[in-house]
Amino acid sequence: MVIGVGLIGGSVALALKARRQVGEVVGVGRSRANLATALESNVIDRGLTLEEPWTRELADADIVLLATPVAQFPQLLAAMAAALGKRTVVTDAGSTKQDVVNAAVAHLGSALPRFVPAHPIAGTENSGAGAAFASLYEGRDTIVTPLPLTDPQALASVHALWELCGARVLSLAPAVHDRIFAAVSHLPHLVASVYMAELAGRSDAGTTLGLAGTGFRDFTRIAAASPEMWRDITLANRDALLDELNALGKALESIRSSLQSSDRGAIERLFCAASEARRAWSRTSTES
Ligand code: NAD
Repeated sequence: MVIGVGLIGGSVALALKARRQVGEVVGVGRSRANLATALESNVIDRGLTLEEPWTRELADADIVLLATPVAQFPQLLAAMAAALGKRTVVTDAGSTKQDVVNAAVAHLGSALPRFVPAHPIAGTENSGAGAAFASLYEGRDTIVTPLPLTDPQALASVHALWELCGARVLSLAPAVHDRIFAAVSHLPHLVASVYMAELAGRSDAGTTLGLAGTGFRDFTRIAAASPEMWRDITLANRDALLDELNALGKALESIRSSLQSSDRGAIERLFCAASEARRAWSRTSTES
């Protein structure tokens, strides 16, 4: 079962279907229109809205993937807990992990050992079932953040699920995950969005944006992503994100003062350090 049949949940369903590794995929969603798109494109085999008795399906589900924006997780986990089958494994794809673990601890009760928190490091700026595609996870990483009490068999099932989607599975502690992704995902997203919104709000935005080139396109691409999803991520990882914002504020203040004093050496050192680091990262990263 996939709860939240969008880019992430839909792409898992398509990847497993492409490898003939699932029987029936039941999708649970908020909007009938998105479920209809998912059915038409064979992402799911059956679709239920939240107004229908979807929790009845949980008793027979082998695996349930939560793939809605993360602020929906507490109420969904609470609704699911009593209805889960004895062997049903629950996992998620949320971009933050400490809040998700806290919600699972608060709501899952005796099913908690069969919950395996996970985060695939893959995505695009598009959302909804129509944006899903089977190869999204190929060659990408998925981070799992199991708890000490996580059932090893449930963990093995979730490893297998992501490996079948083509991903490499790594394990981190939830707080470590959230610190790292505040730096490499959540802050970059915030900065691209702040900059895009600020520029778009100017009186000469039409002329300015009309002349923007590929650098601007690359820098702001991610600002087009789902506002609801990013609101939830930003609030869920607030503390780590505030630390990153403070560090960035200091770095910006430093380059501002170098510019004010026309400090040629300091400005060149910044661009040298950034260029070397970006090139080195490109050589080792699957994201390049
Ligand atoms: P999406 O907007 O494409 O899909 C989310 C779907 O969940 C939508 O169809 C929405 O209608 C549905 N939904 C919302 N609330 C619901 C509810 N209460 N019950 C059932 N369905 C509900 O978003 P996405 O990009 O697929 O992201 C899904 C999750 O994956 C988020 O938690 C996000 O943090 C995480 N994630 C996203 C990316 C990315 O780059 N997009 C990458 C990794 C992880």
